[in-house]
Amino acid sequence: MKLDVATPVLVDRVARTRAQMEAEGVDVLLLSTGPDLPYLTAYAAMPLERLTMFVLPRDGEATLVVPRLEAPRVVERPEVFSIVPWGETEDPFDLVAHLAKGAWVAAIGDHTWARFLVDLLASMPSTTFRRGASVMSPLRSRKDDAEIDALRAAGAAADRVAAQLQSGAIPLVGRTEAQVSIDISQRLIDEGHQKVNFAIVAAGENAASPHHHASERVIRAGEVVLCDFGGTMNGYCSDITRCVSLGDPPAEVADAYAVLHEAQHAAVRAAVVGTSCEEVDATARRIIAAAGWGEQFLHRTGHGIGMEEHEDPYIVEGNDVVLAPGHAFSIEPGIYVAGRWGMRLEDILVAAEAGPEAMNRADHDLVVVDA
Ligand code: ZN
Ligand code: ZN
Ligand code: ZN
Repeated sequence: MKLDVATPVLVDRVARTRAQMEAEGVDVLLLSTGPDLPYLTAYAAMPLERLTMFVLPRDGEATLVVPRLEAPRVVERPEVFSIVPWGETEDPFDLVAHLAKGAWVAAIGDHTWARFLVDLLASMPSTTFRRGASVMSPLRSRKDDAEIDALRAAGAAADRVAAQLQSGAIPLVGRTEAQVSIDISQRLIDEGHQKVNFAIVAAGENAASPHHHASERVIRAGEVVLCDFGGTMNGYCSDITRCVSLGDPPAEVADAYAVLHEAQHAAVRAAVVGTSCEEVDATARRIIAAAGWGEQFLHRTGHGIGMEEHEDPYIVEGNDVVLAPGHAFSIEPGIYVAGRWGMRLEDILVAAEAGPEAMNRADHDLVVVDA
């Protein structure tokens, strides 16, 4: 996969990566499969048995070690890295060890396959390895302008599908959850996503399970249906949850939804630069608990998002990371009553000095639909 990222953006990211390596005492960064590699090179390695590895010494030239047969797919960026292809009979681990020669501390990408690390440990016996996240997470969690643009576009595309759900354009009653899930997935593609990552459709009591798998259960009139879906568009993820009611909801459900809506708004308002992630979580939790649903809010308030659906920073108790401009994350409180009903309201936000910017703007209400 190639990403459409301008070379100066990559140059800037590599410079910031080197500064982070300096701060962490890392001599060489080694990236293979997973999102760290395209973040710095605009090239994603095929998840195959032949090693692709980006070798970035703190001081010195960056090199992309790539199987010879994959090399034609790599767009060379001489300002960022050079390419070293390896042939079928060569040992790519010796190649990496040579490029990383003298490194005491290596940080290796979290998504690198264990088999590659095991072979590298043998090829680089005097090097200490640590997780690549120590270098990459602080960088990738704070999005640059190109990334925020991509998140905006993905969010707007997901919003268009949410609007179709809320307008009644997506038939619900009489179809199975699985059929609706396929329908929503197709609409994500039609609206510009290259890939669907999930499309949870949970009707009635099934919505009480936050990660319910869309099933053969038929959706009935009078139920609340929870839809949580997202995909990848130009390398960046969308993720939105909306609930719709097939007829006027019972008073208990309407009242709970009002609490959920208030909690979601309050957490968004709290998510300003300088506030800790755990304080944002606590803000949503206090409101839901005060209304008597504290035990039914089963999960953290949110997760970071970017090239991955779930990444740092997590909006959860115990995470004292302080929000900074460019942090992108979900705010998605929920209330779940086992065996009866469930609800969640989710938007993606990006922290900015002027306050959080919403990537999702679809109607927040429990919209009553005739579909
Ligand atoms: Zn979601
Ligand atoms: Zn989410
Ligand atoms: Zn609202």
